[in-house]
Amino acid sequence: MKNVVLLLLMSVGLSVSAQEVNRCYTVEAMQKREMANPGYLEAVQQTFNMAKEQAQSKNGGQNIYRIPVVVHVLYNNATENLHDSLIYNQIDVLNEDYRRMNPDTNLTRAEFKPVAGDAGIEFYLANVDPDGNWTTGITRTQTNRSSFMDAFNQDDIKSSSAGGKDGWPPSRYLNIWVGDFSIFGSPFILGFAYPPVGAPNWPSGQEAADSTLEGVVVHYEVFGRNNPSASGLLSVTDRGRTCTHEVGHYLGLRHIWGDGGCSEDDGIDDTPFSASASQQECNLNKNSCTDSPTDFKDMIENYMDYSDEACMNMLTEGQIDIIRSILETTRNPLIADFPAGVNAYDLSNIQVEVYPNPSSGQFNIAYNSTTSQVQYVEILDSFGRLVETQSPNEVVTGNFSIDLAGQAKGLYFARLVFKEGSKVSKLVVE
Ligand SMILES: [Zn+2]
Repeated sequence: MKNVVLLLLMSVGLSVSAQEVNRCYTVEAMQKREMANPGYLEAVQQTFNMAKEQAQSKNGGQNIYRIPVVVHVLYNNATENLHDSLIYNQIDVLNEDYRRMNPDTNLTRAEFKPVAGDAGIEFYLANVDPDGNWTTGITRTQTNRSSFMDAFNQDDIKSSSAGGKDGWPPSRYLNIWVGDFSIFGSPFILGFAYPPVGAPNWPSGQEAADSTLEGVVVHYEVFGRNNPSASGLLSVTDRGRTCTHEVGHYLGLRHIWGDGGCSEDDGIDDTPFSASASQQECNLNKNSCTDSPTDFKDMIENYMDYSDEACMNMLTEGQIDIIRSILETTRNPLIADFPAGVNAYDLSNIQVEVYPNPSSGQFNIAYNSTTSQVQYVEILDSFGRLVETQSPNEVVTGNFSIDLAGQAKGLYFARLVFKEGSKVSKLVVE
């Protein structure tokens, strides 16, 4: 065991000291993957280059992209079995940070405000599982693994046979695994994620990288905002931004310092050069490289740095171009082909009742709006695909019926479309 740990420490060049948190293991995990799968790093770089090219040739218009998420909680004890509320607020943090609706945008320094942007990306817990069944978007699995930190393989958490949990199809879901990555009871890594590999030209004779590894991994003590375990050493990471950072990697972003000195760039034009990671602090004077023609201080506000999360608050337009291009290309099925649920923005002031439900096909629907009537109803299948549209021509205020007798048995969604928005109900045809 001693040798294993020693080897591990040597391989990542870090010590487990009381003063240090290994914020992100992405670079080390990628290097290991390259060893197992030569050509991997080159394919990642090509994918990044393709995304950048695509972003530069695009103009205008910004749809909101919505990503279905499944959170896999792996626990060996009750503390690790995180409460639903932490999972919900982690999704909130992602939505705030990727829409620039985070409460701390006012802390972005004036010189960076012009390049700080709204990525137009939203996240929601999937409500349909890979078999088409209703789900909360959260799985919970008890494991006999007290830690998933391993000198040779950090990916066991993604495999049921290794004590983790197999992911859901990575083309349809953003898998987020949450578990223990401690060594000797101290958190060793807080998270990692592999950037996308979609480049078509793998070196001949080499297999494309294993897609079941795609997704985000977060140490359980820093998942969610105000996680009660994120104290002491981890108090700099108590705002749920480890996950924000790892989702950035998952969508193709590199560390803002390019994982090298001033000559090593992150490939993004509007992030200033920096020579090293921010040291878990909020040092507004840090200026490790000289930029030309205008010299900027290091952008410690960026989610892709290692600052204290209290001073992280932005992505740049250049970073946003990359992650949106990735969603339009390599990771496109995630938002396009089979949405893992129906993500309508519900009108909260309207209540809908469906009866009988389940039914053999005839459903009565009652709603309590006094201001608006249903315009039409979209019926979606369990994958969120549109099956048919019905126009209830006999809407007596607040009441109408729909007929699904011709449809196969199973789970459907009825999206009631009002002038102001929509409302979704689950229907079961049996
Ligand atoms: Zn990182």
